[in-house]
Amino acid sequence: MQPSGKYSFPVVFPSRGMRRRRAAHTAGGKPVLSETERTSSAQPARRRYYPSAAALLLAVSTLAAFQVAVAASTLAGSKREAVGGWAIQWQPASLVNGSPVVFQVAPPARLAGLSAKWLEHDVFFTYDAANHVWYGIAGISLETRPGIYPLDLEGTTSKGNKITLVRTFAVRPGKYPSVAVTVAKRYTEPGPEQVERIRQDKTIKQDVFRHTDPDREWLGKFRPPVDARVSDVFGTRRTFNGKVQSMHQGLDYAVPQGTPVSAANAGTVLLASPLYFEGNCVVLDHGQGLLTLYLHLSEIKVKPGERIEGGQEIGLSGGTGRATGPHLHLAVRWQGVYLNPATLLSLKLP
Ligand SMILES: [Zn+2]
Repeated sequence: MQPSGKYSFPVVFPSRGMRRRRAAHTAGGKPVLSETERTSSAQPARRRYYPSAAALLLAVSTLAAFQVAVAASTLAGSKREAVGGWAIQWQPASLVNGSPVVFQVAPPARLAGLSAKWLEHDVFFTYDAANHVWYGIAGISLETRPGIYPLDLEGTTSKGNKITLVRTFAVRPGKYPSVAVTVAKRYTEPGPEQVERIRQDKTIKQDVFRHTDPDREWLGKFRPPVDARVSDVFGTRRTFNGKVQSMHQGLDYAVPQGTPVSAANAGTVLLASPLYFEGNCVVLDHGQGLLTLYLHLSEIKVKPGERIEGGQEIGLSGGTGRATGPHLHLAVRWQGVYLNPATLLSLKLP
């Protein structure tokens, strides 16, 4: 690793202070905690699931069921389980903070709609007629502490009746590296003009991130946007100039200037413009609250509102914005939290 040369500065939301000032927004018509509220450590508002004796029993019996489920599972990296007529499968098999997760649910009755609550977010499910199951993409923020968390499923039958299931999942601590990085002082202490530009960008990004489509637009597996070596992984803790700390919220690919960058999956262009930190940036909405972001591009080849197919070229790689050299930074965002792109790319999806 060459920490001083290749890293772009914290991406998209560079300072904790800025993050703290984000207002609460809504998703699916219901209030959602702001990123601030989600990231602070001692959070009474963040309803962590403190395991009671009953829940522990449930967890233990769930673990026992896991063993059976693992044995029965035919898909590598996924787990499946049947509870009370519901069959639930999820990927990746082991959940850690920073990970996306896809839930695959076969309810005990024919449903008109299915939704769930997970870590204070709404999970939007879409019916997949070919496989007779519901798929919903969700995630676990980096700030989520290890613990047992419930997925509250609620289905609506064609007659309007509600059926529910609460299923708990263990979230384990992800293992992420730490590096020290040295950058020019203007990156850690921006001047007034830069601060103003950053402020304007923040408004643009807030607007963009507010509009996400609950319907599924993604189709099939997510694919790497370039065919290249990964130069830095997601979740790396970076200390800049011995002071400013940040978490690397994406995946860096070592690509020279001008390499074609393709859409990781089908979606709609939410943003296609230059930003201060991100440089030329494209944001794609894949539905179900899931976005992918492509940073530091030398050229953008799509326009906001445009429908994009998976694999379609959206721009050329570069080193614009706060990048010390050309590379592609790919980020994955789900309802306000950054997730590990490498995990998303590993999921088997219909
Ligand atoms: Zn990066």
